[in-house]
Amino acid sequence: MKKLRDNVATRHFNASKFSLERGESTTFDCHADHEMLFVFSGVGEVTYGDGTLSTEQLTPGDMILMPPFAAHLIENTGAQTLVMGNVWWEDRQTIDERVKAPKCERRPRVVLPSFTTPNGRMHLGHLAGPVVAADIFTRAQRALGFDCYQLCGSLGFQTHVGITAAREGRSYRETSRTYSDDFLANYRLLKIDFDVFATLDELPRFEEIAREFLTALDAGGHLIEKTTRVPYCEHGHGYLFEANVRGLCPHCGEKISSECENCGLFVPDEELVDPVCNHCHRAAAWRPLKRMFVPLEPHRVVLERLLMSGAYVGKMPDFVAKVLQQKLPNIPLGISSSEGVALPFRGQEDLKLYSAVELVPRFLTAQDMLASSTELGSGEVELALFFGSDNAYLRCIIFPILLHLFDASRFHIVGFFANEFYQLDGYKLSTSRGHVIYADDLIRQGIPADWLRLYVCHTRPAVAATSFSLGEAFDWIERRRRRLASVIQIISNAVETHHRGTVPEPGTWERLHRAFYQQLCERRHEGRRLFSVEGFEPRQIAELIDRLLRDLDRFAVESLHSRYHPGIERAACALSLVGLRLWATLGWPVMPELCTAVLARLGSRETPCLNRALQWVPAGRSFDIGGWAA
Ligand SMILES: [Zn+2]
Ligand SMILES: [Zn+2]
Repeated sequence: MKKLRDNVATRHFNASKFSLERGESTTFDCHADHEMLFVFSGVGEVTYGDGTLSTEQLTPGDMILMPPFAAHLIENTGAQTLVMGNVWWEDRQTIDERVKAPKCERRPRVVLPSFTTPNGRMHLGHLAGPVVAADIFTRAQRALGFDCYQLCGSLGFQTHVGITAAREGRSYRETSRTYSDDFLANYRLLKIDFDVFATLDELPRFEEIAREFLTALDAGGHLIEKTTRVPYCEHGHGYLFEANVRGLCPHCGEKISSECENCGLFVPDEELVDPVCNHCHRAAAWRPLKRMFVPLEPHRVVLERLLMSGAYVGKMPDFVAKVLQQKLPNIPLGISSSEGVALPFRGQEDLKLYSAVELVPRFLTAQDMLASSTELGSGEVELALFFGSDNAYLRCIIFPILLHLFDASRFHIVGFFANEFYQLDGYKLSTSRGHVIYADDLIRQGIPADWLRLYVCHTRPAVAATSFSLGEAFDWIERRRRRLASVIQIISNAVETHHRGTVPEPGTWERLHRAFYQQLCERRHEGRRLFSVEGFEPRQIAELIDRLLRDLDRFAVESLHSRYHPGIERAACALSLVGLRLWATLGWPVMPELCTAVLARLGSRETPCLNRALQWVPAGRSFDIGGWAA
């Protein structure tokens, strides 16, 4: 026997003893090992879970077991030192099971792509960023059997829209409506299947929800009142916020308006360097302004939990970790602007709700519209966000904390999907410089909407900027369209020539058939992973659809011809049709119209489902592709 003083490492496990002083806590930890924890002395709390977190008391003698991938944090809440021991070990079988089936809850899912600012037409950059990816995600969740809803819109107030309205000689409402109509036209063109499209027509509901939200923040003791200096134009343009001011970022020195697209960090009004009025282009002065603020710092644990839950994707975990290295800022509730929701606080009525804070009431309004048009009650929902990385601070930092302060239990954010810029011929898209391309132009030039969706999915700027070029897009799409048409032609000829136009029973299987069947099972499995919230990756989905089409092409060409035994050809024919059916099922979230048409010709008319095993096309039905054009 040996009395243990230090850390222990054996072949099967490790062990150690540690202590936390009063008020001290561990950082969140989340690992593949099993961990057993023991409380020797002192009291505290453990916060733990996979996705949703719970908290429990710790007292001397307690013994707790953390399964793999349960995030956990221990805090000393007592007056004495909290002394604990732990033992950890690896159990590969449990790890594999947890990785395969990460969650068993099936709460409804709500998808929220950032509302596009209604101050210009929707161009290909918007579509290739949040719009198409959010739609693919929504449809993919439905194919996995989830109740999934998509909330879109243009609701809200931003000074950028006011500036466009003044330039175009229209009212704010008219400007917002004109561009919202353009967004809707684009959504219809690209088959975006949204459940709600919230616009300023919902203003009364929006104002009521915004007031309710602000009152709840106030009642919860989450607001402070503070006077800070604010850029001010002494030449008649008053207090300068958002699109009315420019200057240098205090963090990275980049030329910015009020938000920094370069480093993505929050710029408090009083810290903007060398502010200039955007109306008269003269240096701004500073004036004190008394406002209400929400301090984010007391709620950093909300972000730490999300970080540990794996909800941040791509470059976002590093971004959030970088933000968390410093004290979180106070976010002002109001700015001075001619348009917006007036703050419901005494002495603040002249100020309008700041757009960063407005994100929550915008979402709650769309959610309320959804609840009144669907079966969705007031139960818990999982929320997936799609946004450009220039909105990372708003979406990853401000939105989750403010939503949590309003309702800590109902909304579970399960995915933060960001995108970088989508360029045109290697340069940033810019409406003002005319370097821009619209979906309707491309469709008019002969690219069908479904294939455009596949192409922007294939070139999605998930972690780095990518570029669109018309020539490349045409070639890429043309090759795939021809391949699909050829595959369908080969299968159809086989059905026609050997089976008088009806689908045969699968006959005699050779090695080639078994290998193809196995390949299809693997592709289906891979599709389920890429469609899931944990594995969602549009570029890989596009690649999978492409790969499956090549597999199918190769198999059909190699195996669909007369053989010494007619049963062998029958098996090849039936398997080719299974492959085509799987292709259309996996392709449906990306290319809904085309795949729905293919599935209909294979006799399947319901929403494609990826939860069932591979489906045969029923023997005896006709496979008629007369008049078909992919
Ligand atoms: Zn910056
Ligand atoms: Zn000015």
